Amino acid sequence: MSIQDMDLTRLVREVCEKLQSQLPADEEDKAKDKGIFKDPDEAVEAAWKAQKELFEMTLSDRKRITDTIKSHLLLYVEELSRMVVEETGMGRVADKIVKNRLAIEKTPSTEDLRAGVFTGDDGLTLLELSPFGVIGAITPSTNPTETVICNTIGMVAAGNSVVFSPHPGAYKATNRAVELINEAIRMAGGPKNLVVTIDEPTMAKSEQIMKHKKISILCATGGPGLVKAVLSSGKKAIGAGAGNPPVVVDQTANIEKAAKDIVDGSSFDNNLPCIAEKEGIIVDAVFDYLVFNMKKHGAYEIKDRNTINKLTNLLVPEKWKPNKDFIGKDAKVILKAIGIEVDDSIRLIIMEVEKDHPFVVEELMMPVLPLVRVKDAWEAIDLAVQVEHGFRHTAICHSKDIDVLTEMGHRIQTTIFVKNGPSYAGIGVGGEGYTTFTIAGPTGEGLTSASTFTRKRRCALIGGFNIR
Ligand code: NAD
Repeated sequence: MSIQDMDLTRLVREVCEKLQSQLPADEEDKAKDKGIFKDPDEAVEAAWKAQKELFEMTLSDRKRITDTIKSHLLLYVEELSRMVVEETGMGRVADKIVKNRLAIEKTPSTEDLRAGVFTGDDGLTLLELSPFGVIGAITPSTNPTETVICNTIGMVAAGNSVVFSPHPGAYKATNRAVELINEAIRMAGGPKNLVVTIDEPTMAKSEQIMKHKKISILCATGGPGLVKAVLSSGKKAIGAGAGNPPVVVDQTANIEKAAKDIVDGSSFDNNLPCIAEKEGIIVDAVFDYLVFNMKKHGAYEIKDRNTINKLTNLLVPEKWKPNKDFIGKDAKVILKAIGIEVDDSIRLIIMEVEKDHPFVVEELMMPVLPLVRVKDAWEAIDLAVQVEHGFRHTAICHSKDIDVLTEMGHRIQTTIFVKNGPSYAGIGVGGEGYTTFTIAGPTGEGLTSASTFTRKRRCALIGGFNIR
């Protein structure tokens, strides 16, 4: 090889290396255009600038932005739902379509921001709702895109920008939702990087966001570890944590309807929603008739003790730790693993167990509903309070006895209490009221909405504008 040939080879190699080193940078720049950042600090800085721009825009600008997000994302509901099931291996596409649609259609925007007023001899005082600034929002794997959609609408309507920290097991779908949200914001003439997210998320990146000084407030949707982490961050935090919703049925209930409602609610998205019925507490007088009716609506009953033990060992192999391989899986898949073949009409597995069985005590997030037999409604309420663990999340009761309904609502103190309907009626599916996918029981904000993400401010004019 001549000297010139060697120089040429080196030159070609150098050019190739340079091109290659530029490729990822280009890709990274392209991702940033979609609101997706590898570096949390860069993401926060970008969102911080965007919030300053939004702050100078009007309320109708915010409304236009959130309306455009809604109409744009409606076109991608199926794509997002499929992506989530593919990436996480959990849940049902048809149910995720319902959940994503719900987040888009029933999350309130600026109409949720209601100012207050005091007038009197001393003048007029306004109560105004102002944004916090940049919100760090940590999202779960169980409702990843729904949470991003719902948080975005509320947080942006309130005048904030958002940095999402997606669950590492659901980040591709989560970030696709953020990309689509950015397309919509651009279409509506909103600020670039108003909503950003983290690529290749890790726990360390999530902590970096939590600690960043330009993040004014944290909003955490996930399990107990996450809620504890944000509450220890030293920042104001909205914590939406785990639930273990009991459903009580007494002898006065419409049993045929209760049976269908419970199967529908408990099997919805394979029991992933934090609000879904996770254990049934049934009065003895109607227990067998309820089971008979549940079987008409897609429940498969396991009666044999040995089979129940086999299922218990499979789903909770270590005491109090659900087997991740079966979280959010179809009932058919779970049954197959213990040698039982069923068709697609089976959506839920039920069995009678004792009140301290792991299926009752633990939040499984599987289409498995343990049923406990009790003598009367008062014993049912006692047990419901006990197994809800004080999470203050969700409870359901089927009864026509006003005293039972009142006593359960009073004693259990959950954020959502559904009477005579499926659990999801509590977030606006076949029940009145707006929806949310961030139900803040531990920190008390309840069903979060735009006004949750605001600072409450007072503006007092002394001695004037009182026109009575
Ligand atoms: P998860 O707690 O495993 O993860 C949620 C998010 O928190 C992820 O982004 C994860 O990366 C992050 N995270 C977890 N621990 C952390 C820590 N110590 N520090 C920093 N970041 C941390 O939750 P999941 O399995 O995806 O979701 C299911 C859980 O969330 C269930 O317990 C369910 O009940 C609950 N949930 C509650 C609500 C609600 O509104 N209350 C809504 C959805 C899910």
